[in-house]
Amino acid sequence: MAAAFWGSNTKRARCIRRRSREFDVDFDPTQEQCAALDGWARFVDRDLVPVVQPFNDQAFTPEVAHRLMAMMSPYGVGCGWLPEDSGGAGLDFLTSGLLFEALALRSPDAAGLAWVAEGAALKVYANGSDEIKRRYLPGMLLGKVIGCSAISEPGMGSSVREMRTRAVRDGKNFRITGEKTWCSNATVADVMIVMAKTDEKEFSMFLIDRREHGFESREINKLGLNGWPLGQVLLDDVVVPEENLLGKLGSGMRETMKGFNRSRCFVSTLALGIARAALDEAIQYAQQRSQFGKPIAGHQLVQAMLAQMATDLAASQLLVYRALAMMAQGKPCELEASIAKSFATEAAQRVASTAIQVFGAAGITKDLSIERHFRNARMLTIPDGTTQINQLIIGRKLTGIDAFS
Ligand SMILES: Cc1cc2nc3c(=O)[nH]c(=O)nc-3n(C[C@H](O)[C@H](O)[C@H](O)COP(=O)(O)OP(=O)(O)OC[C@H]3O[C@@H](n4cnc5c(N)ncnc54)[C@H](O)[C@@H]3O)c2cc1C
Repeated sequence: MAAAFWGSNTKRARCIRRRSREFDVDFDPTQEQCAALDGWARFVDRDLVPVVQPFNDQAFTPEVAHRLMAMMSPYGVGCGWLPEDSGGAGLDFLTSGLLFEALALRSPDAAGLAWVAEGAALKVYANGSDEIKRRYLPGMLLGKVIGCSAISEPGMGSSVREMRTRAVRDGKNFRITGEKTWCSNATVADVMIVMAKTDEKEFSMFLIDRREHGFESREINKLGLNGWPLGQVLLDDVVVPEENLLGKLGSGMRETMKGFNRSRCFVSTLALGIARAALDEAIQYAQQRSQFGKPIAGHQLVQAMLAQMATDLAASQLLVYRALAMMAQGKPCELEASIAKSFATEAAQRVASTAIQVFGAAGITKDLSIERHFRNARMLTIPDGTTQINQLIIGRKLTGIDAFS
């Protein structure tokens, strides 16, 4: 029956076969990856958790953020995507994603800090002049210089082209004026990769050094992921030399869009870690808590909740690993990254919300971590393309029709 169906619809069959070959990616961890993950998980539990724990309800200070980055760098977290000959750890995206997932299980805040810093380093590596790389890359890769990326503004989020920040040429300098917001790592960053308009329809990327060129930042109070700094940035006629232009004049939008597949995958690894933590804690609680004369895990409806959580997590993992593996193999993966991001981040909030239900009233107390997983997960459906924006990307890929405006 199935063969007859596919046989009678050869165009569709060819398309499905081509797709399944594209999806034919092997993401079983190798022995090497397993060994790296074991060592990493031990380090995170033993050395990193004690540093991050006091920051469940307040943002890392610059000192703590730098200490964390320096601690993680030897494991390839914060510097993994850059090749070894540039001072990076030369990890493939899947291995790096597994490390980030394991970190997010214990501290999604530290994972966010490192992922954004690593993204900024990669932009410097890919677009910086030799001089800019010489000055900033070694420090960024050792965790001594923390980077952030500033695109969003108070009046512009999803619609990046509506940006107002401007960079105006003034001899051998550019003068940058504008306001950026929701900028991860802003209050601990030493360097900021900022996107600004250099003409009516032209966008460019600049590196701004906090100490040399100056930028003001202020922490924003938020719902979750409170250790991971998130700030507002004021750029008041900041003067940067033309050497600080990253890439060619006008290449900013293209370069930023290229980076979105990567950031969608890595924000999804945070969702995986949070969902895993919520599920693990819900299972443990359900085994220990007794009602009606037996552990609540023995009640079928509680098992149904756990089963749904585990299914959401497993599906998210497969989607995220697939997108990471495709990226590691250099395959185009815009569709897969958007599917992974929209599914995994929405699933993480479902999982964390159900975990609260398994805990009953104990799930809402700030004395336990369950309510925090819920607040943390809730943050992730917004950055790197909201769920709706990722759905529009998926829809555009499927239909060839752009429904953005
Ligand atoms: C944890 C976190 C970290 C972040 N880190 C950074 C960072 O490091 N750097 C940075 O520059 N920014 C960062 N952001 C900002 C993020 O990129 C923006 O919040 C995001 O792009 C959405 O923009 P917005 O919040 O202005 O929402 P808006 O764009 O105003 O959207 C509001 C609502 O309208 C919907 N919507 C908008 N347009 C459409 C459409 N065409 N069709 C259907 N629905 C639509 C959205 O899905 C959303 O539900 C971060 C945000 C968060 C939450």
